[in-house]
Amino acid sequence: MKFVSTRNINDGVTIREAVFRGLAPDGGLYMPAEQLDLRDLFLRHDENSSFVDIAADMTAALFPECFTGEQARELAKAAFPFSPVLRTLEPRLKILELFHGPSCAFKDFGASYLAGLMEFFLRSEKKRAIILTATSGDTGSAVAQAFHNRESIDVVILYPSGRVSPSQELQLTTVGGNVTALEVQGSFDDCQRMVKEAFLDPSLNEKLPLTSANSINLGRLIPQSFYYAWAFAQVRRELRGDLLFTVPSGNFGNLTAGALAWFWGLPVSRFIAATNRNDVVPEYLQHGFFTPRSSVHTLSNAMDVGNPSNFERLLALFDNDWKRIRTMVLGAVASDEETEETMNSVAAGKDLLVCPHTAVGIRASREALADGLDDEDLVISLATADPAKFPEIVSRVTGREPAIPPSLAEFTKRKKQSVHMEPDTGALKTFLLNNYK
Ligand SMILES: *Cc1c(COP(=O)(O)O)cnc(C)c1O
Repeated sequence: MKFVSTRNINDGVTIREAVFRGLAPDGGLYMPAEQLDLRDLFLRHDENSSFVDIAADMTAALFPECFTGEQARELAKAAFPFSPVLRTLEPRLKILELFHGPSCAFKDFGASYLAGLMEFFLRSEKKRAIILTATSGDTGSAVAQAFHNRESIDVVILYPSGRVSPSQELQLTTVGGNVTALEVQGSFDDCQRMVKEAFLDPSLNEKLPLTSANSINLGRLIPQSFYYAWAFAQVRRELRGDLLFTVPSGNFGNLTAGALAWFWGLPVSRFIAATNRNDVVPEYLQHGFFTPRSSVHTLSNAMDVGNPSNFERLLALFDNDWKRIRTMVLGAVASDEETEETMNSVAAGKDLLVCPHTAVGIRASREALADGLDDEDLVISLATADPAKFPEIVSRVTGREPAIPPSLAEFTKRKKQSVHMEPDTGALKTFLLNNYK
């Protein structure tokens, strides 16, 4: 399959090019050029299919020109030693836990698959690459761990100083080796802008093999579509009515990946785009105006995004048509107070702790269920991070301490190492040119 820029549908590239370029040369984002029909594949699987089974089949179907069936299975097996978990919260509400990977957040799925893809291509070509990525929290740790110790790849991660949780910061800054953390004195939007500008700088890109790994990279986005297919396979035999997915959203990569699965034939009837007060997309869905603005700080800080980078891609899937996107995507907004309320009601009612991002989604899911869905309909709400990634918030709100998974406990023993930087693309350029070839 070929991929095209959201801004120029005539120039098709291979998955290899799309993955290493990150952003298209015209500043657009890569999207599939064709509407593949994977309905038979989706219906071939059921609750007995493993996540690797589905990831392997989708890889082989999407990139037949790159991988044999066997290579696709190897890639999927190596990338996913962890799997999603589907849990029943209420009779018509399930949560899809995506946090059982090394960094305990859903971004492990994309980062790990992308690392596998890049390694596959670089190894065969004997080349090197430098990953440059901005993070509002979880991307960085997922990328750091997915790419740590890969021989042909260096990693540079920009994060906003003081705006990621202490445990997120430790996960970003203690990996070491080929992974460098840049602590930017600004917001996540500054970090994201610096990375975008660096990728669009011709002289920099002539000298360094820069490539991105944040949620604009197609190689991260595509594997996120696999767990929507897996969740569908899990429930498809018991499903009587419509299936909805609720996606706690910031940059809208996760939701766009779900929309891709739908585009390829997954029988989803709606997506609920759940945000915190950074609600430019729900606002667009309601009124038809898209007004990017500075992000505001909330409890669900990995979703504090004022200008979601995947919005252009999501719109492209619906031909930039407001009426069409509204038929498939419903917006929902939760304040910090509502987020806390939901964390508490889940903790009390289900004896389950959830992270604030997951709570934003659960709140939206309950609202949708209370507001007109049929008795037979099922909502699957994505649980994006382990509550233990936000121990301060979870214990303050619920009065209970989340259990720390072993992969997180490891980091608290290590020492932070970061490089301070002004929110200025010139400073980033100088740093890169002085430290890498
Ligand atoms: C990144 C992240 C989100 C938002 O995902 P997008 O793909 O950027 O919309 C939600 N929750 C958590 C925990 C995250 O790390």
